[in-house]
Amino acid sequence: MQIGIPRETLAGETRVAATPETVKKYAAAKHTVIVECGAGAAAHYEDEAYAQAGATLGDAAQALGTELVLKVRAPNAEERARMQRGAVLAGMLDPYDQAGLAALAEAGLTAFALEAAPRITRAQSLDVLSSQANLAGYKAVLLAANQYGRLFPMMMTAAGTLKAARVVVLGAGVAGLQAIATAKRLGAMVEASDVRPAAKEQIESLGAKFIDVPFETDEEREIAQGVGGYARPMPAAWMARQAALVSQRCAQADIVISTALIPGRPAPVLIAEETVRAMKPGSVIVDLAVERGGNCPLSEKDRIVQKHGVSLIGYSNLPALVPTDASALYARNLLDFLKLITNADGALAIQQDDEIVKACMVCADGKVLRSA
Ligand code: NAD
Repeated sequence: MQIGIPRETLAGETRVAATPETVKKYAAAKHTVIVECGAGAAAHYEDEAYAQAGATLGDAAQALGTELVLKVRAPNAEERARMQRGAVLAGMLDPYDQAGLAALAEAGLTAFALEAAPRITRAQSLDVLSSQANLAGYKAVLLAANQYGRLFPMMMTAAGTLKAARVVVLGAGVAGLQAIATAKRLGAMVEASDVRPAAKEQIESLGAKFIDVPFETDEEREIAQGVGGYARPMPAAWMARQAALVSQRCAQADIVISTALIPGRPAPVLIAEETVRAMKPGSVIVDLAVERGGNCPLSEKDRIVQKHGVSLIGYSNLPALVPTDASALYARNLLDFLKLITNADGALAIQQDDEIVKACMVCADGKVLRSA
């Protein structure tokens, strides 16, 4: 089968959907891989390395005109126009973007959005949300450290002692847990909040303090369990108690890394303007939820802004700032996913009744298969 790897066109997207390592594996499985010239350049994968791995180098039209197209982001109108009707597309296609999915269906594509894979053990090796969020959590802490006018570790020097930075992490999913681990490695004192009770043990196992917002009703306790590993919107009373506690903790903190998300919904607002106002001058907030509206209403997408003496970092695509590793992991996720839609002869064989395939398949036969 012909597999196309076009260059990503979305502004700021530096990742690529296949690396020379995965191309070599596709070639060994008897696929013909067409890589657009320069597709891996922003992630430091050179054309020559792809060619040595067995790829044919081509232009955008050739890479997009294949039977199977692997992408990082959903194709734009120009890219869709270059794709064959009936072609298969796999990538991070945003399964909650109904208009985007409708456009893919209209282009006659069979499309797989890997973000929709269930959080089950068998899907771990193709879990793009985890592979990318992990890197985002790491990079968020480095960005904060870079922006912050002080150091993270406690340091005793002949000229005096420097205090360790205090870091608050809001949302202890994949990104949040990596942010905790990274901040700890840099020597900070870390505390973290999450709604899911399971997060407490994970936070503490990384040496951070759990910011406990006790449940006051059975309903709160039940909702906090989430569904499928994901959080659900908490009742207003719990959110108000959390906001009060978070505000108190943020006022003491130097760095806040916020990662709280609820699938398919706007990000919960956890850092109100009054909280930012109460923070120390020179503090830094990194809002990883900015793409979904932000955990802080003052953060701005893809910008660093100063509000009330606090720097707010609102970069929406942190994995793209570590494109070599982000692409390496993403490309392996795709390689694993393809095992579910191809057979040993290298032909397309979509396992329609497979739980993962079913969840990821967002369009087929001109129809969107997923409702909002
Ligand atoms: P996510 O990106 O959807 O959300 C980030 C975090 O925000 C979550 O931990 C969520 O509970 C938290 N959150 C939501 N509302 C909040 C609030 N008001 N205050 C504080 N925190 C809030 O989540 P994710 O990182 O994708 O991970 C979700 C879960 O899935 C985690 O438990 C993770 O361990 C689990 N997971 C399981 C597998 C697997 O079993 N295969 C793979 C990956 C992740």
